Amino acid sequence: MKAVFYDVNPVEKLYFPQILTGYELALIEEPFTSSNIDPSAEILSVRATSKVSAEVINSLPGLKLIATRSTGFDNIDLEAAKLKGVPVVNVPAYGEETVAEFTFALILGISRRLVDAANQVKLHRNFETDSLQGFDLQSKVLGVVGTGKIGSHVIKIAQCFGMKVIAYDAFPNVNLAHELNFAYVSLEDLYKTSDMISFHVPGRKETEHMLNIDNINQLKRGVVVINTSRGMVIETQALIKALDEQLVSAVGLDVLEEEQQLKDNQADQSIQGLIDRPNVILTPHNAFNTYEANQRILDTTVENIKAFMANSPINLVS
Ligand code: NAD
Repeated sequence: MKAVFYDVNPVEKLYFPQILTGYELALIEEPFTSSNIDPSAEILSVRATSKVSAEVINSLPGLKLIATRSTGFDNIDLEAAKLKGVPVVNVPAYGEETVAEFTFALILGISRRLVDAANQVKLHRNFETDSLQGFDLQSKVLGVVGTGKIGSHVIKIAQCFGMKVIAYDAFPNVNLAHELNFAYVSLEDLYKTSDMISFHVPGRKETEHMLNIDNINQLKRGVVVINTSRGMVIETQALIKALDEQLVSAVGLDVLEEEQQLKDNQADQSIQGLIDRPNVILTPHNAFNTYEANQRILDTTVENIKAFMANSPINLVS
């Protein structure tokens, strides 16, 4: 069985050959693109940053399994995989704490002007503090959109900071709200009352542009917007307009609709301009990336492949 892994990091390069003995392995450092397809792949393993389109799926004659090394699977054409009879498996949970901690890295990075402060000293040996004033999290209202595995950890951390939490979810978890002492509100009310908003929903048709040009005016003036979920959840042009109009005071993004274009150096000027703004922190889809989370991703991926080979697949997505 030939297993082809894309977006392989140095740890994976050592790990997979040790654990997946008996497989023919190809370990490719670059993300999967139409120009580096290995047509002999029987098992295809990618990360969230590799797009697996219908065209690609249909160009792999021996493909038997797609194993994404991520929770999200919006990068894979599930319909095309289904039509070809190729199951798709994912890593349903590996780092809810990991991504929640990163969410707070972005929140604190903004509230305490961490990037500016560090750069001022590192690049200019400037120790002046007048221009670096931040704000407290204590007593601020955090609106959490999506109260699943990651969102619920974000709520727990927020409460340690003394923040007030409100939340929106298409499928409210009443027990969770009771246990963690927060209230569910409508999305509109969340937009109207939150000082900070953090998105933790899956990337799907129903969550596309939850924040968009038509509803951005509902936001409380001066709100901070954080997104570590999927780029498609926020319409970037709406965010740019809101930053221009100072409706949004700052954003922390680990994901962006145009992240692929940015990587390929094909993003338009307005997106390049977004990155250069002092009140924008953009990170390269890196919230998952800790030693411990990576290890859990590897272990689950190996279990996924072995279970499939033993005819009892686990972690199937539909
Ligand atoms: P989860 O499935 O546990 O939680 C998602 C929540 O969103 C659920 O409570 C669900 O009811 C809610 N939801 C679904 N559709 C909705 C809709 N239309 N409107 C409102 N709420 C809706 O997922 P999770 O593990 O908490 O992950 C959340 C997001 O984080 C996903 O998009 C995932 O891909 C992303 N993620 C990003 C990184 C990263 O490195 N940046 C890493 C892991 C996960």
